[in-house]
Amino acid sequence: MSADTPCAKPLPQILPETAGFWEAARRHRFVVQRCTGCGRRQYFPRAVCHHCLSEALAWEEVSGRGVIHSFTIIRQVQHAGFSSDVPYVYAVIDLDEGFRMIANIIRTPPECVRVGLAVKVAFADVTPELTLLQFESA
Ligand SMILES: [Zn+2]
Repeated sequence: MSADTPCAKPLPQILPETAGFWEAARRHRFVVQRCTGCGRRQYFPRAVCHHCLSEALAWEEVSGRGVIHSFTIIRQVQHAGFSSDVPYVYAVIDLDEGFRMIANIIRTPPECVRVGLAVKVAFADVTPELTLLQFESA
């Protein structure tokens, strides 16, 4: 890589147990797994139900809405791939369906982010194969 080549961001690996999640994200849908054995849902995607260990899991769309539980504003570049992003917000989000996830908050000025802020999912197409789930103020 030359000095002129921007450093790429590290991207998630698509694993067999997460492929359905990423395929839905490419279509701008946010899905979680529902166990057809015990009927409960889970996020993040796993190979088995974390309640009953069944491998019978189906994908189910969720609202993509929630509130910020906690957040931090990243102001220092720890990886060159993010140098043009700082400052940016990295948040823990409580989704309306009861799941908690970590994601970037985008299209929302960092000074406007607060605990309890209502957010909604925003899909970021980063490669032809990969779309990331991020969030923005609702
Ligand atoms: Zn189950």
